[in-house]
Amino acid sequence: MCGILGYLGDGETLSILFNGLKRLEYRGYDSAGIAVLNKQDVFLIKDKGTISEICKPELFSQINGHLGIAHTRWATHGEPNKDNAHPHFDCKKEIFLVHNGIIENYNTLKRFLENKNHKFISETDSEVLVHLIEHFYNDNLEVAVSKALALVEGTFGLIVIHKKNKEMVIAKRGSPLIIGVGEGDIFVSSDAAALIEYTKKVIYLEDNDIAVIQEGNYSIKNLSGQDVIREIHEIKWDLNQIEKKGFKHFMLKEIFEQPESLSNVLRGRIKNDKIKLTIDLNPSSLSRIIITACGTSWHSALIGKYLIEKIVGIPVEVDYASEFRYRDSIINKNDLVIVLSQSGETADTLAALRKSKSRGAQTLGIVNVVGSTISREVDSGIYLHAGPEIGVASTKAFTSQVVTLLLISLFIKQNQGYKLDNILLNEILSLPEKVKIILDKQDDIKKIAEIFKSKNNFLYLGRGINFPVALEGALKLKEISYIHAEGYPAAEMKHGPIALIDKEMPVVFLATNGTVFEKILSNIEEVRARGGKIITVTDREDESIKRLSDYVLYVPKTIEEISPIINSIPLQLLAYHIADLKGLNVDRPRNLAKSVTVE
Ligand code: GLU
Repeated sequence: MCGILGYLGDGETLSILFNGLKRLEYRGYDSAGIAVLNKQDVFLIKDKGTISEICKPELFSQINGHLGIAHTRWATHGEPNKDNAHPHFDCKKEIFLVHNGIIENYNTLKRFLENKNHKFISETDSEVLVHLIEHFYNDNLEVAVSKALALVEGTFGLIVIHKKNKEMVIAKRGSPLIIGVGEGDIFVSSDAAALIEYTKKVIYLEDNDIAVIQEGNYSIKNLSGQDVIREIHEIKWDLNQIEKKGFKHFMLKEIFEQPESLSNVLRGRIKNDKIKLTIDLNPSSLSRIIITACGTSWHSALIGKYLIEKIVGIPVEVDYASEFRYRDSIINKNDLVIVLSQSGETADTLAALRKSKSRGAQTLGIVNVVGSTISREVDSGIYLHAGPEIGVASTKAFTSQVVTLLLISLFIKQNQGYKLDNILLNEILSLPEKVKIILDKQDDIKKIAEIFKSKNNFLYLGRGINFPVALEGALKLKEISYIHAEGYPAAEMKHGPIALIDKEMPVVFLATNGTVFEKILSNIEEVRARGGKIITVTDREDESIKRLSDYVLYVPKTIEEISPIINSIPLQLLAYHIADLKGLNVDRPRNLAKSVTVE
């Protein structure tokens, strides 16, 4: 969460920082700010709102500095307002800092500094850092930052400058930070999206690294003072992939990219009726699988449980990473812990991974962002290759995660010595084509969105492997349209939510062919009998479905294991169009941000 950016070089600093922040806004957008060292002065602009609201392009040519830092915020401590916006500065207004993360002991540090007469302007935890650095500063910024960080508990990705020197001191623990090496200029950012326009050469810093960036060079140490070597990596994607390409929103573009993202996750992984994955999994020593994740990834994990238990027959537990990390979870050496995170930086998932490793479990990561912290720390991993996902509400990463879990199930089964069912394999390979058929029916879904856009509540019901799809459909709607929605196992409805049903309540049913099809028909009857408005997603032409439903969304026929991926697509489109018709900013939903790097 939150995006930080630093630049040192001969380019137009203010416009580079401005453009970079715009690309980082999906990480947070409640306030923003930029500080540029302009000769011996620091130009500072910050406020509530997005950078385009705060800083006008007319300023670019007026500010001539060659060193600057920038921040787009997702508030953790203190409401979004001008004082709480970053960059923060010390009492003498000489040291400026941007921070991503949470300083957990900020209260203690603040009291200590107030006793030494430091004056605080904001309510943030971050401002404590800059005063602590001031407290230790004695003509050497790196030393002061190191001393300050030795007292800090919590997480940080930070960039600090002092108005006397043309240098940035950067450090990280628990929040991502990368250096972009340009032609003579150097960038620092919380993710590659801000730099890709200028360079593809990046260095991923590790936890407890501190680096000093000066004109044309950089040096990296750990916080204990030893030099460390971090390699330069080449980013494989380009600017085109993070543009909207004519779509109204990133989310819509990403929904429509799914035929391609699904082809990418499958590429080279099914060959001659075999699954090819470069992971080392020995099923004979596997007693249990734990999948841990947050948000939408947790829904993929739940589908993974159904898939693995059905296909492989190994027990699977699914846990929210935020719960798993703190509870007395039982983790054994023969467990495989699968961690799922689109960004590969989700703070709770990363902590769950570290806990599992410390208990000796084998770990496997499923992430989208190449080079992310989780991808570097897992024993083995599978990349989604979905391309950058900018929309805050995850779509293409979700469907690729489910496909990956399906491939893992089949891979384990293959390693158990079984021949794989080629009907299933062919169905998997036909996914991009089938998803395209649903996307072509966007207008039908939009009509339903128009009818229901003013409702205050929605219920999503599914059974078996489509129960997590109901959860995901409800989450998509909540996230971007602010309509209260609940996902529920259809049969559980009669133990509570059925009380909510009246003629005002839209109920979305997932009723595709499979083991529980007849059962779900009965659940539709139950809602019908109570006057609920029924929208059914189905692949069956049955008369009973038509008779019972107010609206039917037809999806292509497939087999049960694949149905969660197919069924998710109309639900993504329904949520998108409801939010868009309500005039909401789908890419910047209220209070949310992508890549949750704080716990
Ligand atoms: N804790 C800091 C603040 O509230 C930074 C938040 C973030 O990482 O987005 O300003």
